[in-house]
Amino acid sequence: MIVVGGRVAGSISSFHAAREGLDVLMVEKNPEIGTPVQCAGGVSDTFFKSMKIKPLAQFTCSRIRGACIHAPSGASFLTDDPIIKGYIVERKIFDKYLAIRAAEQGTEIMLNTIAKDLIIKDGKVGGVIVKKDGQTFDICSDIVIAADGIQSKIARKAGLDTRFRVDEICSCAQSEMVGVNIKKEIMELYFGNRTAPGGYLWVFPKGEERANIGVGIRRRKWNAKSAQYYLKRFTSKLDATEIEFNIGAVPIGGPVKRTYTDGLMVVGDAAGQVDPLTGGGIHIAAECAKIAGEIASEAIEMGRADAEFLKRYEKRWYKRVGANIKRSLKYRKILNQLTDEDINKLVESLEGGELNLFSTSLLRFVKDYRNILRILKEIL
Ligand SMILES: Cc1cc2nc3c(=O)[nH]c(=O)nc-3n(C[C@H](O)[C@H](O)[C@H](O)COP(=O)(O)OP(=O)(O)OC[C@H]3O[C@@H](n4cnc5c(N)ncnc54)[C@H](O)[C@@H]3O)c2cc1C
Repeated sequence: MIVVGGRVAGSISSFHAAREGLDVLMVEKNPEIGTPVQCAGGVSDTFFKSMKIKPLAQFTCSRIRGACIHAPSGASFLTDDPIIKGYIVERKIFDKYLAIRAAEQGTEIMLNTIAKDLIIKDGKVGGVIVKKDGQTFDICSDIVIAADGIQSKIARKAGLDTRFRVDEICSCAQSEMVGVNIKKEIMELYFGNRTAPGGYLWVFPKGEERANIGVGIRRRKWNAKSAQYYLKRFTSKLDATEIEFNIGAVPIGGPVKRTYTDGLMVVGDAAGQVDPLTGGGIHIAAECAKIAGEIASEAIEMGRADAEFLKRYEKRWYKRVGANIKRSLKYRKILNQLTDEDINKLVESLEGGELNLFSTSLLRFVKDYRNILRILKEIL
C-alpha cells in the first residue's frame, strides 16, 4: 500500500495498515515530517483515548480544561464542558511521533518525494508516479491512500472531486508568540465580524506566557481582507514577540462527495473530514485514517481493491463520525447568520452563568436545525 502525505491522516492509516501486516510505503513531499506547521495543536482527550496514544510530555505543551468565549462587546463566558478537555500539542513533534509509530510497525517512509501522478491500469489505480532527487519513477501498489491535504490532487487524478468552493474554506493565519498574558489551561476564542468574519480568533496557551494566536476567517470572495490582516490587528496590540508564523486553510464545507474509487481511498483534510464548526481536523482525520488502514488490509487479504469493496471504508467512517460532521455543519450555517449584535446578546445572556451554549453545548442541548432556531429565538 502507498500512502501519499505524511502527517496525521497519512501516519495513522500507515500505522494501522502496517500493524495488520501490510507492506506500507508513505511518501511525503517535504524534507521533514511535521513542517511547516499549519495547525494550532488543539487535541481532545477523546483523540488520545480513541487512538490509544498517551499524551506524552515530549509533544504536549499544555493541558486544557476550559474555553473562554468572547463576544464583540467584550462579554465573555467560561465553559468547562468535558468535550473541550485536551492538550495543546507541538505539532512538529507530535507529527513526527505519529510517523515514528508508523515506522515502528514497519512502514517505510520516503521524504522529499512528491507523488506527481497515479498509475492507472485497466481503469484502476495501480500505484503512484513519484519524483525524488530529480528522478521520476513508478511505484506499483494495489491500494493508494490519498492523505495529501486540502484540495487533494492525488484523489483528483483518480477522478474524485476533492475541490472546495471559496466559501467552504476557512483561511487561517497564526503566530506563535512569547510574552502573552495567558490564562493557564484555558483556550480563548474571540468572535465577531471585526475580529474574525465567519470564523474566530484563538489564543491557545502553550506554556509560560507562550501561545499560538491565530485567526480563521471565511471569505466570500478572494479579494476580501486576509486572515493575516485580522491576526496582525489583534497581535499588534500585544506586547509580545513572534517566534513563528504560518498560514493554512481548512475545509469546512463537509466531506467530499465520494472518498473511494478503484484502488484508492481519500482521508483527512483531503476528504474534508474536518469538524465544520470548529475547524478541528486531527481527531476526525485520525478516526477515518484508522478505518482506511484497516480496510486496506482487509481488501488486500481478500484480493479486492475494487470500488465495490472499498465502499465499506466510506460506510464505516460515515457511521463513526458522519453524524457529528453533519450536525456541526448545520450549526456553522446558523452561526454564519448571526450578527455581532446576536452574538453579544447570546454571550451576555450566558455571562457568569452555568449554561454553556456556544459551540459545545449547542451540540448537547439541541438536536436539529429547528430546535436551534427555537432556542435562539427564545434567547434573542
Ligand atoms: C491554522 C490552522 C490551525 C488548525 N488548528 C487545529 C487544531 O487546533 N486542532 C485540530 O484538530 N485541527 C486543527 N487544524 C486542522 C488540522 O491541522 C488538519 O485537519 C489536519 O492536520 C489534517 O491532517 P491531514 O494529514 O489530513 O493533512 P495535512 O496536515 O494537510 O497533511 C498532508 C501532507 O501531505 C503532504 N503532501 C501533499 N501533497 C503531496 C504529494 N503530492 N506528495 C507527497 N506528499 C504530499 C503534505 O506535505 C502534508 O505533509 C488547523 C488547521 C490550520 C490551517
